[in-house]
Amino acid sequence: MAKPPNTLRYFDYNATTPVAPEVLAAMLPYLKESWGNPSSVYAFGHDTSKGVAEARESVARLVGATPSEIVFTGCGTESINTALWSGLRADPNRRHVVMSAVEHPANLNLRPHLEAAGFRVTVVPVLSNGLLDLEAVEASIEEDTALMSMMWANNETGVVFPIGELSALCQRRGILFHTDAVQAAGKVALDVGSVAVDYLSLAGHKIYAPKGVGALYVRNGAPFSPLIAGGGQEGGRRAGTQNVASIVAMGEAARLAAELLESEAVRVAALRDRLETTCVEKFGAQRNGDKVARVPNTANLAFDGLESEALLLLLEREGICASSGSACSTGSIEPSHVLTAMGLSRSRALGSVRISLGRGTKSEDIDHLLGALPRAIDRLKGVIPSSASS
Ligand code: PLP
Repeated sequence: MAKPPNTLRYFDYNATTPVAPEVLAAMLPYLKESWGNPSSVYAFGHDTSKGVAEARESVARLVGATPSEIVFTGCGTESINTALWSGLRADPNRRHVVMSAVEHPANLNLRPHLEAAGFRVTVVPVLSNGLLDLEAVEASIEEDTALMSMMWANNETGVVFPIGELSALCQRRGILFHTDAVQAAGKVALDVGSVAVDYLSLAGHKIYAPKGVGALYVRNGAPFSPLIAGGGQEGGRRAGTQNVASIVAMGEAARLAAELLESEAVRVAALRDRLETTCVEKFGAQRNGDKVARVPNTANLAFDGLESEALLLLLEREGICASSGSACSTGSIEPSHVLTAMGLSRSRALGSVRISLGRGTKSEDIDHLLGALPRAIDRLKGVIPSSASS
């Protein structure tokens, strides 16, 4: 196992977040004392079902829903899969689905499965700033379109789609609308009361709950078909004994996310903007993605001509964790599908780094990163010989 650096400077909150202390404290009693089965009829089981019910209320509050509209799942991916299949199985005469080119693989990689099941999929391109051309979105709708799936916030660039407008368009055209809000939760306000969303997906581990728990909002009356059949848990919508401790954790995480939303957004945006401005003005970086329509914690920066993978390795030596959207496939590094969809050149996309901030990010972490970056850049450009110690 790789040795963890003495001081971890974590800039990858979009990949996952640590479990918040309050969240850990809330879940522990459900691992130690209240370990009954929430479906049991005796009081010992009832204690656990009460924990699940309270968590459902809390998650519902985070998105402006009613508790009966929340289904707990095993992860964001499961929520997304459940939503899409629910919407598509509703009407056998509707065989078409629309999604954007920058969706997470949890959504985009459903495409071959949908096509194998006889659905047609239209993938709508994005503009160079990562946003959508709303006319192109409207033009993608066909007579038998069943559902549109568009993410609320992009995991790589942080770009926020206009969910109000997109969902209103779908409502006008009689189409179901799903949004992947995995990266939006806790970063921007979510209110299903003010947008015409039928399904909304969430993941616990992006909001300081553990990995392996998610939630799906299903608007009352929206078509639903379970992905997992079995017992009657979650009102028959998701079979399998609930992961009570993690669900309780997600409830507490949702409560905290709502409480800290505004203060953290302001604090983290100021840190992100300082970082980004310095990188652009002093280190020759270019920002990827719209400057305004985005979540407050994410910077996606291109160091054209450099290889982000090499840059990330050098940064890791200084205790810094960040990421690129590149993927390793068949032995070569492939640029991020998000940056490619935005029309970035291969070299700019391969030189791009995602820096995502969170609750643990302090001003001194930004100083540390801003100190390490020019050293790493100079080394990659050959200004500092690679043999010199850092
Ligand atoms: N959607 C987005 C935008 C994500 O960033 C992620 C996780 O990276 C997912 C979906 C999948 O969530 P999970 O890892 O909980 O399945």
